[in-house]
Amino acid sequence: MHYRTRFAPSPTGLLHVGNAYSALFCARWAEQHDAELILRIEDIDHTRCRPAYADALIEDMHWLGLKWQGSVQYQSQRSQAYMQAIVTLRDMKMIYPCFCTRKEIKEEVLRMASAPHLEDLSVEYPGICKNRDVDEQIQRMQNESFAWRLDIDKALAAVGSGLSWQDEAGVRHAHDIHHDIIIGRKDISFSYHLAVVIDDAAQGITDVIRGDDLRESTGIHRMLQSLLGLPEPVYHHHPLLCGLDGERLAKRNGGLSLQYLRQMGVDAGKLRDFLFQLDPQVWPFAVDQTTEILDVLGNTS
Ligand code: GLU
Repeated sequence: MHYRTRFAPSPTGLLHVGNAYSALFCARWAEQHDAELILRIEDIDHTRCRPAYADALIEDMHWLGLKWQGSVQYQSQRSQAYMQAIVTLRDMKMIYPCFCTRKEIKEEVLRMASAPHLEDLSVEYPGICKNRDVDEQIQRMQNESFAWRLDIDKALAAVGSGLSWQDEAGVRHAHDIHHDIIIGRKDISFSYHLAVVIDDAAQGITDVIRGDDLRESTGIHRMLQSLLGLPEPVYHHHPLLCGLDGERLAKRNGGLSLQYLRQMGVDAGKLRDFLFQLDPQVWPFAVDQTTEILDVLGNTS
């Protein structure tokens, strides 16, 4: 069996040590399994992604010593493939147009709710647009913006209730989607969930390796693969690197960006080794501990 995996960052900010951990996790797995590693830039969200961040992340990957197969793929250049999948799902009647605003959804949820646990209620779509008649859908689609939602009842009827995904130990996990999630966003007509499964299939990805924060999306991805007749990869979810406060590292924490560490004089080889021996996965430096960071990771020490 020939294995292929990918690192698929979104260029919404400068990469930080947590992203480096994720990239190195993929690269190490690829090395151990004689697998191909692909770099995919997930830049469909034009409100948050910036070409400058995409360029910076490629530079960071080179600095870290990461090698990938072939040219870098940009999701922003693949809208047609994603739209084709939307058409297929629409023809299968697995998705429906949803015209709701957040406010309308919230109001409907509150109206339906008998219990006062309001903070839980914004997540589940109450099905307002689910059963609109086709004429009304067509008419409103001409004048209003709309998202595409997966009809979970139809989807489960089509794929069967035993839908599950497989982890690297061969254990199968039941899907956990129970309401009509958005598959096509109002602004771009498709979504991360759709783009990622289309690309994983198009690029022949056998093993998806990514952070634990995406575990919950995996059931959705399996559902879409199953509906669209796409192959099923194995899923590996690695622990997320946390900061001293126990919170996962985030891009907004610019002080831990790879660019900052590089400019400060951190050695990429030392950083790689350091990240791999962390147990638990906690980055043990505060942002301003420059001296301490350089003592351990500096390219002169
Ligand atoms: N683009 C996603 C992110 O940066 C990763 C998607 C994936 O690995 O499936 O969080």
